[in-house]
Amino acid sequence: MIGSRDEARHIVPLLTRANAIYRRYLGGTPARVAYLIGSEMPEGARDAAKHRDAVIINWPSMRGQRETFAKAMRKEVDNNFSHAPQNVRDEMLNKMMAGFQNQISSNGVPSPFEAGTIQHELGHLWFASTYVSEGSQDTQELARSGNQYGTSAPDWLDEASAIVLETDYLTNVRRKRVADTVGSGNDELIPSLLELTSMTHPVLSVDRELIPMHEGSNISIGVNIRPDRKISGDARDSGWFYAMVRAFVDFLIDNSGDPLVLKSIASELAKGASLSDWLASSPHREDFGGSVDEMDRMWRAWLRSYREYN
Ligand SMILES: [Zn+2]
Repeated sequence: MIGSRDEARHIVPLLTRANAIYRRYLGGTPARVAYLIGSEMPEGARDAAKHRDAVIINWPSMRGQRETFAKAMRKEVDNNFSHAPQNVRDEMLNKMMAGFQNQISSNGVPSPFEAGTIQHELGHLWFASTYVSEGSQDTQELARSGNQYGTSAPDWLDEASAIVLETDYLTNVRRKRVADTVGSGNDELIPSLLELTSMTHPVLSVDRELIPMHEGSNISIGVNIRPDRKISGDARDSGWFYAMVRAFVDFLIDNSGDPLVLKSIASELAKGASLSDWLASSPHREDFGGSVDEMDRMWRAWLRSYREYN
């Protein structure tokens, strides 16, 4: 880890927790991590990290985030409400800042949102290092090509491997979105398994969220302070996609009783097999009704009764 000791001591527990969750749901030992906190990779260190098969994560410092954000908000308030008395503007600013309390890190301590996002990104990196073989396309090349988000695995699986590593805080955000989606009564928002497992990450069409980095990347990951914004302008935005992927992982584990079911699917799909190929050869075949059609019926029924499940 390269960065200030103060910040590092808040990051280490996140790495430890993410590591334990990875072993539980994806099995095996995740790659070593070279973690940079708002700093450049020193000369020679990249080769050393590469030599040890380490993944590199380049994260901005969490210092000054709150101050920078408050300054920007202050400017907005002053510009838009220039006629309001100072105390009213102060009050507005305080309320806005309180609304972002879970999103913005303060004093080098990760916010619940940022902590969850760091663990999420570790999932992408570890998944890529485990399931993307040497010689396959560079993850960034794939992301740029617009065909796939992240690795050569299907988008849902790429995200699933990151979403399972998230903190309880983010997991609750995902599950609440699932409950809200189901509660909306809009059947359009309930994807079939075929749809969900073949769709392109909504982020690809408009925005770039947090592109996983593997080896030489220099992209630093920004904190998205508007996690609920609509990206595609409809209800099937990236928040919806994450929620559905979270639900699918819960569905898989719930019905198979196997915490490593994702690992089993990942191993097959990363080799280019389909979900139906996986099911045909899986010991969990009967847990999902024996066919993808039946599995799809189970999935939709499971999702529709989500309120009760949760
Ligand atoms: Zn992701």
